[in-house]
Amino acid sequence: MSIIRTTDPSATLAEIARIADCDTIILITDKNVEEIVLPRISDFVEKHVSQIMNLEPGEETKNLDTLESVWSFMSEMMLTRRSMIINFGGGVITDLGGFAAATFKRGIRYVNVPTTLLAAADAAIGGKTGINFAGLKNEIGCFAMPLHTVICGEFFSTLPQQELLSGYGEIVKSAMISSRSFYNRLLVADDPFSPISLRMNAAETAEVKQRIVEEDPYDKGKRKILNFGHTAGHAFEGYFLNQGVSIPHGEAVAHGIAVALILSRLKCGARPDELQIYLSGILKRYYRPLPLKCGECGELVRQMECDKKNSGSGDINFVLLPEIGKPIVDVAVTPDEAYEALEIYMELL
Ligand code: ADP
Ligand code: ZN
Repeated sequence: MSIIRTTDPSATLAEIARIADCDTIILITDKNVEEIVLPRISDFVEKHVSQIMNLEPGEETKNLDTLESVWSFMSEMMLTRRSMIINFGGGVITDLGGFAAATFKRGIRYVNVPTTLLAAADAAIGGKTGINFAGLKNEIGCFAMPLHTVICGEFFSTLPQQELLSGYGEIVKSAMISSRSFYNRLLVADDPFSPISLRMNAAETAEVKQRIVEEDPYDKGKRKILNFGHTAGHAFEGYFLNQGVSIPHGEAVAHGIAVALILSRLKCGARPDELQIYLSGILKRYYRPLPLKCGECGELVRQMECDKKNSGSGDINFVLLPEIGKPIVDVAVTPDEAYEALEIYMELL
């Protein structure tokens, strides 16, 4: 698969359709995206798309009933192996649409066109598709690479600030695990949410992920570095969810990175100033503090102990960063060490 950066998405999609030589193209989107973003590719839609399927926006859509309705739609449209799906939306649409395409007639081609920054940075790249099931996130799914992922920075201009911040968390993560120069550019940026910055950073992040995925398409090893910031990040997400508060994923990751940097200093000799640089250049500059109460470190450690990526030894598996651009995976962190790191994090925030 390839990542295509474009400023003329209609023309790019038309060219993809021409080369793919499909019999039918259907586009899957959600109702918000259809209203707000779809007009930007109306040229392509009018000329090439046979039908649009517009789903309800939101994570609840990623379920078996909706999947069935998409399969039914594909059947009614008499799609064949020569047909193609365009997933036009955020991570919900690319995950569900990708899975529908991957399973229909044992797999038809699909193209992801992410319209959220988070999806461009993460979900739309790498071929992980699926739905939530039995109360578990992404419980049913498969690996199936999109034919292409098309990144158009223009689409992000209508996203609310909270969505931009969430996507930016994944961008920062990718920069930190991949190269000092990418990370430095983020640190010195005047406005990372300007159209030009969004365009450049989203595409660069997608390319970072793509390179990692090419080395480890089935998530057997190298891909683990993409979990930098996620062990504590997921713990923050889970902790707040238990209280009925949903924290945007990338925002939790941005805070999780701070915890990982503290552990990188404690356990792998990371430069002492790296944490301060991150706090002043990224975390405190753009993100609100999480509404954590004192004395909650124990509960957060328990959340980390439940992480499905642990080996079962009682330790918590972290991705740490002795140096920017040089992540190490599977670092065993004891619950006591995690507790200490969280206490330091709480003091600093
Ligand atoms: P993600 O996991 O990528 O954030 P979702 O698919 O849950 O993705 O999308 C989040 C929300 O943002 C949805 O309500 C969706 O309709 C909306 N949305 C997606 N793209 C845009 C856009 N470009 N502008 C405004 N809202 C958008
Ligand atoms: Zn993530």
